[in-house]
Amino acid sequence: MNEEKQTIHEFDLSIIYDYFSSAERQGPGSPEITLKALSFIGGLTEKSKVADVGCGTGGQTMVLAHNIPCEITGVELWPDFVSQFNKSTQSNNIHDRVKALVGNMENLPFQEEELDLIWSEGAIYNIGFKRGLEEWRKFLKQGGYVAVTENTWFTEDRPAEIQEFWQKAYPEIDTIPNKLVQMQKAGYLPVAAFVVPETCWTDYYSVMQATQESFLTKYKGNKTTEEFISYQRYEAELYYKYKAHYGYVFYIGKKI
Ligand code: SAH
Repeated sequence: MNEEKQTIHEFDLSIIYDYFSSAERQGPGSPEITLKALSFIGGLTEKSKVADVGCGTGGQTMVLAHNIPCEITGVELWPDFVSQFNKSTQSNNIHDRVKALVGNMENLPFQEEELDLIWSEGAIYNIGFKRGLEEWRKFLKQGGYVAVTENTWFTEDRPAEIQEFWQKAYPEIDTIPNKLVQMQKAGYLPVAAFVVPETCWTDYYSVMQATQESFLTKYKGNKTTEEFISYQRYEAELYYKYKAHYGYVFYIGKKI
């Protein structure tokens, strides 16, 4: 029984990962936004060490790698994403200083005070913004930086439909001032916070729309796939309807 359950669970998970690996990015973001966040961070050299936590297939990591000379380690839970990432670094000929490994953001494989920068786009929610910032801090050198995107409310009052959706999907969603307080209390000086533009979400949702069509054909009759895709479509629909109320914010903090 247990074995059967696990097999079904693994099958479902691999469908979900197959879905996300079809895109260059596994969440809203863009090279321009990655570079904008990077512009707030100084002092990175060949000797600096950077971690990209929840790196996925590495879309944003490649942008970082082409713009800073540092050693970069991507940490990612899903082995297929790690393989895809490491293939890209080979073909970009940067594999001597940029690599991904299978790991868990709840237990990062770094030494205390080893890192100059911790990057994490569209991923810290897996551990929670507050917990991630608190637990990752010890891996940073004094004066090191953290740069993460986090789903955030832009308004104080929200329509019930969107409030309830995100309250259930990610109860830690909060307003910009409250997130900045969490960052400061976790031991960082907030350096910058800026809103990730709508186009990052709409581009992401439109890329995924094409994947949804092909998935519904590929996994025709598979209940899990159908439910999963209808949830993805609902999330996108809500975004178009309520985008004035929420979105990703890039938060950049400096360890104090
Ligand atoms: N940073 C990428 C991927 C974002 S999607 C981008 O912006 O495109 C979030 C990623 O976090 C997924 O690849 C998922 O597999 C990974 N992830 C989820 N939980 C994780 C954990 N506990 N430890 C490490 N990675 C995790």
